[in-house]
Amino acid sequence: MKKHLSILGSTGSIGTQTIDILSSIDAEVVALTTNRNVRLIEEQARALHPKLCAAFDEQAAKALKTALADTDIEVLSGMDGLIAAATHPDCDTVVTAVVGMVGLLPTLAAIDARKDIALANKETLVCAGGLVMEAARRRGVHILPVDSEHSAIFQCVQAAQGNPLAKIILTASGGPFFGKTAEELKTVTREQALHHPNWSMGAKITTDSATMMNKGLELIEAMWLYGLPQEQIEIVVHRESIVHSLIEFADGAVLAQLGVPDMRLPIQYALTYPARVPCKVPRLSLAEAGKLTFCAPDDEAFPAMRLARAAAARKGSAGAALNGANEAAVGLFLDGKLPFWRIPGLVEAAMADVPFRAKPTLDEILETDRAAREAVLRRVE
Ligand code: MG
Repeated sequence: MKKHLSILGSTGSIGTQTIDILSSIDAEVVALTTNRNVRLIEEQARALHPKLCAAFDEQAAKALKTALADTDIEVLSGMDGLIAAATHPDCDTVVTAVVGMVGLLPTLAAIDARKDIALANKETLVCAGGLVMEAARRRGVHILPVDSEHSAIFQCVQAAQGNPLAKIILTASGGPFFGKTAEELKTVTREQALHHPNWSMGAKITTDSATMMNKGLELIEAMWLYGLPQEQIEIVVHRESIVHSLIEFADGAVLAQLGVPDMRLPIQYALTYPARVPCKVPRLSLAEAGKLTFCAPDDEAFPAMRLARAAAARKGSAGAALNGANEAAVGLFLDGKLPFWRIPGLVEAAMADVPFRAKPTLDEILETDRAAREAVLRRVE
């Protein structure tokens, strides 16, 4: 069945890889959005002829309007622009590939407008998993995971035949600093943090991989998507990134999904589900891979995992506090204003500062996010 897509964050890593696989699937693009990459979104718009383009940044939106003045493509800006793209009447599926909490309001608006969600924006579920999953259930829309681990679980779940999962096993590459001690992490640089061994991703998620916060966010994402408490979600380090995640049943049987580390397969499966069609991704050769290794994560050197488990156990507004603080701390690190090792400590302090709410409304989640960011900035200035 033909898909009519709005791609939020079309100029980022997931957005460009989504556009790359469009030639393999039956789809047309209705809307594209960017933060401020005017040059690339203009190029994409001229190739794909969407009805609507939006830039979150107001200046970028002005430049984009000028750039596309010779076309009949509507150009919008800001959060209104993202929401218009997410709810466009011609669209049936929204790919949420923006980075961070900024994806929450457009995702909720898309669900309200009964669009299926191909979810790459994990922060949305980390901040407001309860609200998002409840809205999706009420509106009867599918949340199709794009994150490689959650796609792997989703693919394994197709064999569950309604049987409950006893356990989810999320694999983690360990990132560029695997094996380092807390002491050694005190001297790592931004350049080292941004050099991921296996995956090609944006700067925010690559930093999260280096702190292991990415796996913590993914644990919370898995908890909401699959309805398992955090105690039933295990993290195992798998340096080769070939086993993308696993599920375990009551009888102890474990199923895994394997493939080369390439985001285009999980993106494509989210858009063709339940069908499978040929994909551009290279085939896995187990003989070439040789061996697959596994070990327990080091929660001493990488305390982010422990913070994420605490937030997952508390639920309520704890995920929004964790995520807001992490986004602020990672932003400071990427701007060269914070050493790498301070990120988890600042997140922990902010989580303790911000008032906890057990059943937060959307406004309270947004307020928690703001307060957590401020708590981080206050400690660094
Ligand atoms: Mg992932």
